[in-house]
This record gives sequence, structure tokens and C-alpha cells, in this order.
Amino acid sequence: MRLTDRMGRLGTESAFEVLGMARALEAEGRKVIHLEIGEPDFDTPAHVSEAAARAIQAGFTHYCPAPGLPELREAAARYFARTRDVEVPAERIVVTPGSKPIMFYALLALCQEGDEVIYPDPGFPMYESIAAFVGATPIPLPLREERGFRPDPDELASLVTDRTRMVFLNSPHNPCGSAIGREDMERIADVVRERDLYVFSDEMYWAIRYGAEHVSIASLRGMRDRTILLDGCSKTFAMTGWRLGFAALPQAIVEPVTRLVINSVSCTAAFTQMAAAAALDGPWEPIEEMVARFRRRRAVIVDGLNAIGGLTCLEPEGAFYAFPNVKALGGTGRDLVRYLLEEAGVATLWGSAFGPGGEGYLRLSYANSEENLRAALEAIEATLPGFRPP
Ligand code: PLP
Repeated sequence: MRLTDRMGRLGTESAFEVLGMARALEAEGRKVIHLEIGEPDFDTPAHVSEAAARAIQAGFTHYCPAPGLPELREAAARYFARTRDVEVPAERIVVTPGSKPIMFYALLALCQEGDEVIYPDPGFPMYESIAAFVGATPIPLPLREERGFRPDPDELASLVTDRTRMVFLNSPHNPCGSAIGREDMERIADVVRERDLYVFSDEMYWAIRYGAEHVSIASLRGMRDRTILLDGCSKTFAMTGWRLGFAALPQAIVEPVTRLVINSVSCTAAFTQMAAAAALDGPWEPIEEMVARFRRRRAVIVDGLNAIGGLTCLEPEGAFYAFPNVKALGGTGRDLVRYLLEEAGVATLWGSAFGPGGEGYLRLSYANSEENLRAALEAIEATLPGFRPP
């Protein structure tokens, strides 16, 4: 069957490939510790699930307005004001099933052939994939370990051309765990304003930080109307399976993005939206508790990795990923992932799954119990001396 050219430009997420390999081993009776998948292992807070159940009982089981229920759009506007220092009217919030569709819709609305889109490398693989899919040219912005995996504003400026349309930012960052500080963010905003660009600010991990300040670029002078500010319930509220994302958009693309919603999914499940509104307006203790536990696990995994010969690991400032440097071991990250899965029973992800800049690193998600993390580290330490790159 003839597929369209654009399908050849659409990538995928390798975490699901490793998950498949791990499941095959488990089917043979092998035990595998899963550090490849990026989702909190905590339960959705009880008050959120209860709000969903109440909403179903109350009849929130029908189609609803395409850009979202007023209850959730208003809650999201309050949430951005409170947590990001970004004041936007509820009319500029659009709700989608998960945050990923916003990436599609915003790029479909704003970028096309001839446009360039700058994205972090390593970075969330969907940025490059979707930019290429809509016909734009993705331009990688290297994140270097020497700079703590933070983008260099001068390097960003050097990559901007007359064709550059959009810049993706992701802080705290998947897969590196790095966070962009205020000074760098101000300098990035200067470049964006001077060169008349849009920013796609993916703030999915904003709440999962270990002391670093969160700076939303949308809160900086003149940036609100140039920024697609993306957030969602997946990570902050341990709601990956609920599929709930939302964004504050520049006014000019609210109507086009709403039209894309109507043409694709019609709307987001109404009772899920009521649960999300309860999450955004609700108590913060469950999130504090989750982040405190991630912090303890971060210490276990980072100290454990640094104690293993041939591995070095920077301390991540946010999200729940460790991104150790494995260059001293030789071979490719893919070789090492396969070896660790088969010999140590530990599923990890090769860094180049996040772009060529990730080669020589692995991503380990520490969304797993301290006990499993310790067992994984022991198994890695015991088997690593036997690793011989093919
Ligand atoms: N953005 C980043 C940086 C992510 O890591 C993820 C999920 O892994 C997403 C967006 C997508 O999240 P959602 O479940 O809301 O589609």
C-alpha cells in the first residue's frame, strides 16, 4: 500500500519499543525492573477520582464545547495565574485529550513548508517528529552536559534564520531533568522578541522540581502573546491514563486550534475535565508528598549510578529521569540497553531515542519504588563488567 510522504517523516517513542522487549522477557518468566516508561507510579489523588465519579453521576457524559468546559478553562486560567504568574482569560485556554494533541494543533496552525522549528536535542521526540510531519524543517538546539543540559541562549540566537518560526522549550526537561534558570530564560525571551518568533513552552514537569525556581517564559515581558503554554494532568497529578492536557494560547490561534479539535476529536471527555478542574483547584499536599518521594529516589539513583565504574550522572533538577553518561563503556546506547535488559533484567532507554545528542547516555525513569531502584542498581553493577560492545 502506498503511504503518504508525510508518514515517512513521523517518528515514534522508543519507550514503547523497550516496553515490548521487556514484556517479551516477562512472558518467558523473567523478572524485569521497569525504568523505561515515563509515568508516575503513584495513584491519582482520591479527591480527583471522586470528582470524576460525581461528574459521571451528574450526567457529564455527553459532548461538550470543543475548546473545553467553562469549569476547567476557568480553573486552568486560575492555575496559570497562581503557579506561573501568567494572567490569561479563560477564553484563551484549550483543553485536549492529553497534552500531545496541542503539539499537533499548534504546529498545524502555525508552521508549514519553508518554516524552521528549533527543538532541544536531546529532547522529547515528538517535537521533531511533529514539526517534520507538518512540513517544517526541524533544527536541533544541542543541550550539552557541560552546560548542565541547558540550552545556550547564544547558540539559540545563532540558529535563528529568517525562516525560523517557533522554538520548543521544555523545563524541567525530559530526558535530562535540567531546568532553565531566570537569567537564561530572559536571554531566550530576548532572542524570541527580537526575531519575532513563537515559543512552545512544554511545562508538563513544572511541579516536579527539587528546589529550582520554575520560570515560565510566558510570564516574561511581552511573551504571553508569543507563547503556547502547555501543561496537563499526566505528570503533576499522576493521571497519564486519563488523557487530559490544556494550554494557554495566543488569542489568534484559539479559533484555528478549536477548529482542529472539532475536526479530529470533537471534544475531551466531560467527566475527565471535571476531575481535572478538581485537581487544579484542589489541595496540594498529595503533590508535595509525591515530589518528596521522588526526591528520595533521585538521591538513591544518582548516588547509585555515580558509584558504578564507567558511569557518571548529573543531579537532575526536575522531572523523574536520570540521564547518566555511559560513553566510557563504548558501544551504542542501544547495545547497552539490550545488554542490561537481558543480563540485569533492568529496562532502560537509550539516550539517542531523544535525538542524536543523546548518544552516549541512558535515560532511567525513577518513577519506581526505592526497593526496586536499589535492586536495579545492584543488578547493573553486578553485570556491567561483562558488557562487551559488539
Ligand atoms: N511533554 C513531555 C515533555 C512529556 O514527557 C510527555 C509525556 O511523556 C508529554 C508532553 C505528553 O504528556 P500527555 O500524557 O499529557 O500527552
